Amino acid sequence: MNIVVVGAGIAGCSCAWELSRHGHSVLLLDKARKAGGRMATKVMQGARLDHGAQFFSARDERFIALVKAWRDAGRAVPWFLYEADDSEDLPVERLRGVEGMNPLPRELISSLPISTNFYVDRIEFDGSWNIFSGDDTLESIEADHLVLTLPVPQILNLFERSNFRLNHQVWADLSKVVYTRCIALLGTLAEVSSLSPPGFLAFPHPCLDWLCDNFHKGISAQSACTVHSSDEFARRNWDSPDLEVLALLRPLVEDLLSTRIVEWSLHRWRFAKPTVTFGASFWHDSERKLTLAGDGFGGGSVERAALSGLQAADRVRSSL
Ligand SMILES: Cc1cc2nc3c(=O)[nH]c(=O)nc-3n(C[C@H](O)[C@H](O)[C@H](O)COP(=O)(O)OP(=O)(O)OC[C@H]3O[C@@H](n4cnc5c(N)ncnc54)[C@H](O)[C@@H]3O)c2cc1C
Repeated sequence: MNIVVVGAGIAGCSCAWELSRHGHSVLLLDKARKAGGRMATKVMQGARLDHGAQFFSARDERFIALVKAWRDAGRAVPWFLYEADDSEDLPVERLRGVEGMNPLPRELISSLPISTNFYVDRIEFDGSWNIFSGDDTLESIEADHLVLTLPVPQILNLFERSNFRLNHQVWADLSKVVYTRCIALLGTLAEVSSLSPPGFLAFPHPCLDWLCDNFHKGISAQSACTVHSSDEFARRNWDSPDLEVLALLRPLVEDLLSTRIVEWSLHRWRFAKPTVTFGASFWHDSERKLTLAGDGFGGGSVERAALSGLQAADRVRSSL
C-alpha cells in the first residue's frame, strides 16, 4: 500500500511515522523548504528563535510515549511548570526542543522519504489518487491512499481547485472551522533582556499574546525575542507594511524587555490556532481512500495535532 501524506507538520509527521513503523510505504509532501509546519525555528544573525509553537505538554499516554523517545534522544527537555490561577489540578509540565521546536517533528520522519518545495495544487481520484504540484517541471505522484493534514481552509481550497466534491454535511462542518491569526515579530536584542528565566511573558499587553527571550528559554546563545501578536492586532494590521507593524510593536517590546531590537523580521501566521474545530480528531472516507487530519480536527496544540495524526494512521491501517 502506497500512502501519500500531504503536510509535514506534527500531524503529518506523526501519521507518516505511525504508518511506516507498521510496514506501509509512505511519502510526505510539503510546500515548505523543510518539514515542521508551525513547529518552526529560525536562525537569525547567529541567534536561534522559535517563531511558531513555543512549547508543548503531554497528557495522553500515546503522546507521552512519543515525547519520552524525544527526551531519551536528548531532543526535548522540560521548560517550566504551568499552573492555571483558577485550577486545583497539579501544575502541568511544559517542554521545549533542546535546539528549538522544529527538530522534533523532523526527528520522527528522519528515515522517511519527503518531497519539500512540493505545493499540492490539485488532486484527482479515479480508484487511486493522482497528486499534481503547481510546478509543470515536477511529475504528478500516484497514491493508493491520500492523507491531507493542512489547515482546514487550505484543505477546502485544494478541494475547490480540484473540483472534488464532498458530502454536503461534511463540507458544512469543515467550513465552520476557524483559526486565529498571529503576526510574529522576531528580533535579535542589543543586550540580554530584563526577563528572568524561564524567560517569557504571557499576555503582557492587549496587543501581545506572548513575548519570549530565546536566550533565557535556553535555545539561543544570543539574546533574541519572539513576539506573538494577539488575533485582534493581527487582523487589524494584516495588510499593513512590515515597517508600520514594527513601529507599533517595537516600543511595547523594547519597554517590556528593557533593551533594543537590532535585526528583525516579521512572519504572518494566517492559520495560527483553531478556535472552532471539526468536532472529531480526523475524518476518513474508506471508499475514496481519503483521510483528513491536523489541528483543525484534533485541536490547537502540538499534542492534539500529533494525536490527530496518530489516530488518522490507525484508521487508515484498519481500512486496508
Ligand atoms: C504563533 C503560534 C504559536 C503557537 N504556540 C503553541 C504552543 O506554544 N504550544 C502548542 O502546543 N501549540 C502551539 N501552537 C499550535 C501548534 O503549532 C499547532 O496546533 C500544530 O503545530 C499544528 O500542526 P499541524 O501538523 O496540524 O499543521 P501545520 O504545522 O500547519 O502543518 C501543515 C503543513 O502543510 C503544509 N501545506 C499547506 N498547504 C500545502 C499544500 N497545498 N501543499 C503542500 N503542503 C502544504 C504546510 O507547509 C505545513 O508544513 C502555536 C501556533 C502558532 C502559529
